[in-house]
Amino acid sequence: MNIVEIIAKKRDGFALTAGEIDFFVKGVNDGSIPDYQTSALLMAIYLNGMNDEETYLLTDAMAKSGDTMDLSFINGIKVDKHSSGGVGDKVTLVVAPMVAACGLPVAKMSGRGLGFSGGTIDKLESVSGFRTALSKEEFTQFVWRDGISIMGQTQNVAPADKKLYALRDVTGTVASLPLIAASIMSKKLACNSDAIVLDVKWGTGAFMKTAEDAVRLAEKMVAIGLHHGKKMVAAVTSMNQPLGFTVGNALEVKEAVEALKGGGPADLTELCLTVGGFMLVLGEKAQNLAEAKKMLTETIVNGSAFAKFKQFIGNQGGNVSQIENTSLLPQAKYILPVAAPQNGTICAIAGEKIGNACIEIGAGRVEKSDAIDHAAGVVICKKIGDKVKAGDVLAYVHANNEAKGQKAVETVISAYGFGTAEKQKMIFAYIDKDGVHYE
Ligand code: URA
Repeated sequence: MNIVEIIAKKRDGFALTAGEIDFFVKGVNDGSIPDYQTSALLMAIYLNGMNDEETYLLTDAMAKSGDTMDLSFINGIKVDKHSSGGVGDKVTLVVAPMVAACGLPVAKMSGRGLGFSGGTIDKLESVSGFRTALSKEEFTQFVWRDGISIMGQTQNVAPADKKLYALRDVTGTVASLPLIAASIMSKKLACNSDAIVLDVKWGTGAFMKTAEDAVRLAEKMVAIGLHHGKKMVAAVTSMNQPLGFTVGNALEVKEAVEALKGGGPADLTELCLTVGGFMLVLGEKAQNLAEAKKMLTETIVNGSAFAKFKQFIGNQGGNVSQIENTSLLPQAKYILPVAAPQNGTICAIAGEKIGNACIEIGAGRVEKSDAIDHAAGVVICKKIGDKVKAGDVLAYVHANNEAKGQKAVETVISAYGFGTAEKQKMIFAYIDKDGVHYE
């Protein structure tokens, strides 16, 4: 087989065979195909797309390019959850203990943040001592004994995807539906759960800028999962403003704790009940979404979700007293107000800009190797629909470097839009084996 012929075939709009896709992914993985040829094929895929069969084959080949997880030690249905990435997205921190408290085991691998979008592993590492680099044995033991563990994705989960993603990032080929769908689903398939709930975000703080594009991506990912024998649901949800009121690692842990104690923001709570609810339905712990939401709400009311969270933090070496008293979490030296530049009604908060403000103060990273300042972040005070007067506080920037904090204040101001606010709807649609259901 010849990589030049494969590139030319895709350039001319033809579908690739299983053998050709396998040859390509193996060649990327073992380094025998140079970056310039890989990039050429990625661009041809970007321009000419891939049909469903090709997308399944690409996902499968990438999933098998490295380690796969064995969850067979857990009895019953294993349900995974994944967010396509957003700003202020602390859903996993809330949903994992709620679902585990309902008796459905949560064995989850999560990632770090990159660019404007945060990552669960960075948030958890705000708690001193918390370990996310677990051995398979430890991970297994925690899930088996207490029904919950979250560990960092090892370097060797879908390594071909890592190489392809790095090249897509520098060749303008990230925004391709088949490439995104195959990338996300290859990592999910390598984790080997029986069922997957996807939270596919759309809006200014998401990869997909329109709800319609998010539905198309969700449909592709659901189709890939179903093709591989997984039970699947994808919720298409709004990321037109940050989720909840906090963006930044320790700040988000604090808000997650508030949500677990019943005092969380309405948008975060609604999303957690929906994502967690679908997990319970796919895991056959509830007959339908309404029943599942009731069960999850009960874990908040009776304190079992918060107790499960503390157990999980303690198991993995974290300082539980920081969860019991969140003022012990890392705190920034400077808390800088962001004043409204005018009177009016807030009609937009560009999540991408809030995420960029977080990068400026060290709460996020541009390069994978960048260190994180866990205390830094933004606390939003005014959200879409709120009326303000010039000078009112829109948000606070939490920073350890005052000059960088002041720069971030300007970035946060630029994220706000004033005008006529549309009512925000958290859940746009969900997609399952029967198709798209609009809310
Ligand atoms: N997240 C991924 O893991 N892959 C993509 O291609 C886009 C978002």
